[in-house]
Amino acid sequence: MSRVILKPGREKSLLRRHPWIFSGAIQNVEDEPASGGTVDLLSSDRQFLARASYSPSSQIRARVWTFEEVPVDEEFFRKRIRAAIAARAAWRSVQAETSGTDAFRLVYAESDGIPGLIVDRYADVLVLQALTAGAEFWKELLADLLLQETGLSTIYERSDADVRELEGLGTRVGILRGQLSSSVFPFSEHQLQFNVNLQSGHKTGSYLDQRENRLRVRQLAKDKAVLDCFCYTGGFTVNALAGGAASVLSVDSSAEALALCRENITLNGLPAEKHTALEGDVFQLLRKFRDENRSFDMILLDPPKFAPTAAQAERAARGYKDINLLAFKLLRPGGILITFSCSGGIDAGFFQKIVAGAALDAGVDAQIIEHLSQGADHPVSLHFPEGAYLKGLICYKSRA
Ligand code: SAH
Repeated sequence: MSRVILKPGREKSLLRRHPWIFSGAIQNVEDEPASGGTVDLLSSDRQFLARASYSPSSQIRARVWTFEEVPVDEEFFRKRIRAAIAARAAWRSVQAETSGTDAFRLVYAESDGIPGLIVDRYADVLVLQALTAGAEFWKELLADLLLQETGLSTIYERSDADVRELEGLGTRVGILRGQLSSSVFPFSEHQLQFNVNLQSGHKTGSYLDQRENRLRVRQLAKDKAVLDCFCYTGGFTVNALAGGAASVLSVDSSAEALALCRENITLNGLPAEKHTALEGDVFQLLRKFRDENRSFDMILLDPPKFAPTAAQAERAARGYKDINLLAFKLLRPGGILITFSCSGGIDAGFFQKIVAGAALDAGVDAQIIEHLSQGADHPVSLHFPEGAYLKGLICYKSRA
């Protein structure tokens, strides 16, 4: 086994069980390993620290498989996949009994001790993303184990995320195991149906991380005039209509997303006459609505990642502040703002400060009535807080 020797003092994060080693922490690498191959991480005094996958192109040079001196092999990965399934078992049986939900995350990378591997299940199809050299190295075995452990037969691969480039990996999209008559089909979520396009949908096809927050919107939307910004294929829009919203205006820059949003409304037999889809840039449209003195009872802001890493945080903060400020202005007193950030570079505390700054500059009083995050099928390892990327606030505007 190749050995990676760390610089003096650079074992500290591993001793706290954080699973990443950056290139700058490495003293030397003995027998240059293959991309994704398994290496032992040793302290400068040659003590064993962890067994990891090696990513020669990435700044994150190694990601830990295990902190024990055990073989990293088929049995190792079988146990990890079983553990990921077991960790969701109680949650899943509640979902199955109460909500008919049949789409959820099955494996969430570092959080489940399998860095680089994402597996989402939509009905009876698994969608796999191999995001790192290590996950790519073991992909075929992981695919076989996933089928054995779930009893399913089809895996679709969506290894086309940008992060693969940093790992020196190309793109692969398509069937990995089994057969699929169409890559577009409906899944159920809290008694509603949504079409997923496995081939071209964002991430693995849709945003499963927002499931519980979509339900929350349904519960709060009754009789409200709702503005859903960055609506994508209508996850929040459909739930607002299902919750009895008086009207929903959905905005997205993608005409294709808006078309799918309309389809999802029809799929659920919801009142299309209460819905308007508007193609455009949210930053500009919010200004236009302000100039037209329009107002809403509920505004949703679920923008794309403005800051993937901490380096872009300041610029991203200005973007978040801008849309939240405008949204506070457009809200009627007694209205509700439901605002999210999925930027890894902005933590929950910082996001709350940005929203507070937006309320201050908008000249409104608001209170947080709920903190939101990703669902229970997207757990966060205590040793890997980076796994918590989605943060949201429900704010009540008490007065203008
Ligand atoms: N709320 C959605 C997910 C939002 S994804 C859900 O729950 O499913 C972000 C969306 O923002 C994408 O659909 C993208 O097309 C859109 N988008 C990105 N930048 C935009 C902009 N400046 N104005 C409008 N839409 C934008």
